[in-house]
Amino acid sequence: MTTVGILGAGQLGRMLALAGYPLGMRFRFLDPALDSPAGLLADHLALDYSEESALEQFAHGLDMVTYEFENVPVRATRYLEEFVPLYPPPIALEKAQDRFVEKSFFCELGIPTPTYTTNFETGRIAEIAFPALLKTRRLGYDGKGQVVVLSETDLKAELKNGNREELILEEFISFERELSLIGVRNKAGEMRFYPLVENHHREGILRLSLATGDASRELQKQAEEYSSKVMSALDYVGVLTIEFFEKDGRLLANEMAPRVHNSGHWTIEGTVTSQFENHIRAVSDSPLGSTELLGVCAMVNLIGDLPDVKSILKIDGAHLHLYDKAPRLKRKIGHVTLVEQHMDVLTKKLDLVKEIVDVL
Ligand code: AMP
Repeated sequence: MTTVGILGAGQLGRMLALAGYPLGMRFRFLDPALDSPAGLLADHLALDYSEESALEQFAHGLDMVTYEFENVPVRATRYLEEFVPLYPPPIALEKAQDRFVEKSFFCELGIPTPTYTTNFETGRIAEIAFPALLKTRRLGYDGKGQVVVLSETDLKAELKNGNREELILEEFISFERELSLIGVRNKAGEMRFYPLVENHHREGILRLSLATGDASRELQKQAEEYSSKVMSALDYVGVLTIEFFEKDGRLLANEMAPRVHNSGHWTIEGTVTSQFENHIRAVSDSPLGSTELLGVCAMVNLIGDLPDVKSILKIDGAHLHLYDKAPRLKRKIGHVTLVEQHMDVLTKKLDLVKEIVDVL
């Protein structure tokens, strides 16, 4: 039996374990939160990531370690990798945890991004047209830690409130669509990609993902090229997600997540091998599985309140996933996936889900 340790025991960890059990894996989680969604599925150590003794206790007897959230303290991963193989490599966390480092990395690899600056000296700000977005470099997620600034006066006022060393200013992109690409690479360097997914957010939180395979070949190819460059440069192992803006037929990289991703939940029922299974395969040095689509897919997040579950289950073919989390404002507590052979049927079923769930 192979035992995989997972840093973080949220819903992503839970879905990783659910995908890994049929492959004969065992799991152990480390997460300071006592009531973690993955806690019911496997051993769960509710200890802090910063305590070396906790990390040692966690790692004892593990075959490898992975993580399910990108704000894992890099120090913890560096400490762990001294005595147990750990994937994806900590360098991926270092790149992804700071928006400035991340965008600079994309640029070094020739991957286009929105224009950005961290130089707030007078005269330099003019490089970015207004409106612009002022974001915290670290720890922002689901739209948290960002504010629209309409003018230089606006910006100056915001800079007075914040520590400018911790901020990045980005051009505001009037994009046509938000897309994400989920890729996976194993130790042998084999790579697979899922079809580009169209993502719809409200208040910065993902509400709906559509995976209908409708992106043009060129766009898919461009996204795969960018993802391959990132994964090869990092000697990456595991699933990597890159979020893009589509603008005038081009892709601009917004950010990357070195982990399985919410915009890939539909792969559980919608592809031959889910992102979760492929992540487990990659980190356990196994061949990757097919990422082929099994139909046209939609994934709706359940956020805040629990909707009428039985009404969802009444919809033929609706796959319900609940994460065992208490309802709370803006909290992701589950999702519903639809997989259909025809777009018109998918649209009809999605309309039925929208009658029950507050989607957009
Ligand atoms: P982020 O935290 O960077 O993922 O941003 C959350 C959401 O804010 C994104 O999914 C976009 O909808 C929006 N957003 C972020 N950056 C930009 C940008 N430069 N231009 C326009 N919208 C953005």
